[in-house]
Amino acid sequence: MICARRVFKCFKTLERWGNVVTGAAGPYFVALAVILISMGTFCFFDVIAPNLSYPYISIPICILIALNLFMHYFYVVTVKPGFIGEPPVEPGTSFLWAQKPGKGKQKALTGGVRWTSKGVRITPAGYTKCVKCASTRPERAHHCRICNKCVLKYDHHCPVRINQCVGLHNERHFVMFMAYLVLSTFCLCISGYPYFFESLGVTYIPWDHHVPEIMFAMIFILSVVLCFAVGVMLGYHLYNISWGETSVEAQDHEEYRRKAKIRNESFVNSYDLGKRKNLLFFFNIGEGGYSIITLFIPFRINPYTDGYSWARQEGLERHQGMRQGEELTDDENEDDV
Ligand SMILES: [Zn+2]
Ligand SMILES: [Zn+2]
Repeated sequence: MICARRVFKCFKTLERWGNVVTGAAGPYFVALAVILISMGTFCFFDVIAPNLSYPYISIPICILIALNLFMHYFYVVTVKPGFIGEPPVEPGTSFLWAQKPGKGKQKALTGGVRWTSKGVRITPAGYTKCVKCASTRPERAHHCRICNKCVLKYDHHCPVRINQCVGLHNERHFVMFMAYLVLSTFCLCISGYPYFFESLGVTYIPWDHHVPEIMFAMIFILSVVLCFAVGVMLGYHLYNISWGETSVEAQDHEEYRRKAKIRNESFVNSYDLGKRKNLLFFFNIGEGGYSIITLFIPFRINPYTDGYSWARQEGLERHQGMRQGEELTDDENEDDV
């Protein structure tokens, strides 16, 4: 057991060094991601798009997908996740910001939320003190050891693709970016495989595109890998969201469930409002939120809450099956993951 513990500690140390290295190289990863996404888009519109069926319909759809991909990536890299102590982010007035249907005006932040739906119970968050940066933070916030700050509704730090934390303010754009990355790579794979064989010289059809054959072949292979890998990640995130959990909470709740079971109790996540509502709240659409069109047009959108109040299941003030003081701290998260 002691030996296993040592090996585990060793892996954790290596992981921390990996985080430092990837954290330092973060801006280069972002530049590489922009170059690769641009190359993929150029390959698609140069090689595949000119021969698509029903071009008057298919080309505008492809342009919209590409626009969503670029804009959500831009948002997820530039929108801060929501650090403790920062003033609440007010919606802007530029055309990039989605407008709520009806009044055409953003609802002011009242009681911590912009959600107007009736029948949803919003309760103020409980507070804890961070042992690392000593900030007083609301529930669902966690300390990021790379940013060295506490982040509202912390999900994870992503050093490779976006070079910052995924938290309350950019989590929606992060998931939307992944969804459009999967969709665009899927479209490239499905409609581009005949050109892939062409680029390899299998079909003996002359290559008369601006993009070199080798570049198209590489982008095609990368798209196949990304479509699968990011697809799995997207599925994992959507699964957690549908249960009203962040990535950190999905791990923590397993531990809470185990503890509750020992006491013959059952753990109930008080943020879980049912799959449909959890997804609507996350994407901030539906009654009281924004139009469903915001899933297809790349608008900037604020979350339904400022991170200091949360929608909760009726009748629950906290998670059921948990005792006061049983919440896992960031230290335990780091050691036990
Ligand atoms: Zn902290
Ligand atoms: Zn971070």
